[in-house]
Amino acid sequence: MEATPHAPRNERAVAPTTIIVGSGISGLAAAIVLARHGRKPLVLEAHNVPGGCMQMFQRRAPDGTMCRFDTGVHYVGSLSAGQLMWRLFRYLGVDVPTQPMNRECFDRISLPGGDFCVPVGWDAVGSALKRECPAEGATVGTCIARMKEVEASLNWHALAPEADGAYDRSLYEVSIGDYLRSVGASPRLRSLLLAQSSLYGAPSHAAPLAIHAPVVGSAIQGPHYVVGGGEAITHALLERLRDLGGELRTRSPVVRVLVEGDRAAGIELQDGSVLHAPEVILAMHPRAALGLMPPDAWRGTLRERLAAAPECVGLFCVYGVAEGDLDAYAGSNHYLLRDDDPDCFYDPSLHGPTDAVVNLPPTSPRLFSAMGAARMEWFERWHGTRTPRRDADYRALKQQLTDNIMATVRHRMPGLRLQVVDAATPLTIRDYARYPGGGIYGLQPGMSAQGRNGVRRRTRYAGLYVTGAGTGAPGILGACVTGFAVAGTMLGTDALIREVRSMTDAPA
Ligand SMILES: Cc1cc2nc3c(=O)[nH]c(=O)nc-3n(C[C@H](O)[C@H](O)[C@H](O)COP(=O)(O)OP(=O)(O)OC[C@H]3O[C@@H](n4cnc5c(N)ncnc54)[C@H](O)[C@@H]3O)c2cc1C
Repeated sequence: MEATPHAPRNERAVAPTTIIVGSGISGLAAAIVLARHGRKPLVLEAHNVPGGCMQMFQRRAPDGTMCRFDTGVHYVGSLSAGQLMWRLFRYLGVDVPTQPMNRECFDRISLPGGDFCVPVGWDAVGSALKRECPAEGATVGTCIARMKEVEASLNWHALAPEADGAYDRSLYEVSIGDYLRSVGASPRLRSLLLAQSSLYGAPSHAAPLAIHAPVVGSAIQGPHYVVGGGEAITHALLERLRDLGGELRTRSPVVRVLVEGDRAAGIELQDGSVLHAPEVILAMHPRAALGLMPPDAWRGTLRERLAAAPECVGLFCVYGVAEGDLDAYAGSNHYLLRDDDPDCFYDPSLHGPTDAVVNLPPTSPRLFSAMGAARMEWFERWHGTRTPRRDADYRALKQQLTDNIMATVRHRMPGLRLQVVDAATPLTIRDYARYPGGGIYGLQPGMSAQGRNGVRRRTRYAGLYVTGAGTGAPGILGACVTGFAVAGTMLGTDALIREVRSMTDAPA
């Protein structure tokens, strides 16, 4: 593909060195790291609002008050002083206001076989699991030691260039389900260790140890609410980016990456205008990235693997206002699972009963969200339509799914009076986050996506890179790490890890 010869319509005062497509946390983190290293980043976002999954939206509650709901930032892990997310924000130079969650019970796992409170910290979790499964003390110890070991072996998660599993793709090829079987965990222990799998969106047979350990581990070690929600993160990152000379343009959907010979040359926007830059980073769903790059940017084996890689199960999320006995529930997330086997989350039914992960942040008092799974096939009739313009049948289906999920929440969280304000379907995620399959986190993290021949950040074109949650782990921390990792690919991974570590070692 040749760079289009016509001159760019949107000429800028200072030409960007690096165009970053996508303003989610991965794109913004990469932009700031590169700006700190002398690049002139330009971030292009298709939507009118930046932030990707950190976007928030506003609706009127039944009592007439306006409420702002979070979409993809209910809580974030590793945010205590000295932990990874705290260090990455500190390196980026942003001060994100946060509030620690309930130390005794930040996640309440509610299963037919009984409730379990997940406390903060692996050691506290180990003690709680040993009390719950007294005959399995040794197995609990083995599992927790393994989780810590895997996390410590991932170079970016441990901020250790010398971490021995840093490039060990085999860690992505052992599933957490197989691992728990191999150590002989009882069904109850297995359930309790797997119940937070909706944090990464993959069932136990498909979720690699290298995803489960850092994602669940970061939640366990330092879970916090973000005061002001996802927008607080986006605004802080954008202010910092501008201070460093970077720029953001919204309403700028990119339709094509341009290359010249074997190098990146820029991008083409939907309106036909062209922007030139020697570096282009696609910070988005890897399948969406594939659609923008020349077909040979990734090897054939990788393209085949990506074509076969499953998407996360779709999302159905109800947003509303809660009153009543809030003190009994606020400050924790509630994983209300219909079966003792947490994999039930990945097998949703149109007719219920359903599972729900309920979030009631004390930082936005009275607001709740209840998230469950939904199949994209249920919405096939409306594939050609765009949010929010859909017909009465679509609204009826949304109502049915809302009734299913709310029946679970009302039954399992008595004492609350809940009023529904709106709901999101997999099509909403498809349209707002540009995840082609409407999956909760886009591409399902797993062996096809991250194993041998999985998604790579480099392409065969010099200066053309891919990043975002789908190139690593989902979540604010996981996606932010991918932003640092792509910058590391460009600047030198080990040097950047050392720099982040040394610049964030000093006490706050
Ligand atoms: C319902 C839900 C709840 C979640 N809850 C939590 C939580 O509580 N805690 C947590 O840590 N994580 C949570 N997550 C996950 C987390 O929000 C995401 O994994 C993370 O924000 C993804 O960041 P990203 O940078 O990979 O990309 P995204 O945030 O997906 O951003 C990608 C951006 O690229 C843009 N884009 C795509 N194609 C183009 C194009 N061609 N041109 C221009 N722009 C383009 C998109 O518009 C989008 O803005 C949640 C996610 C969802 C959906």
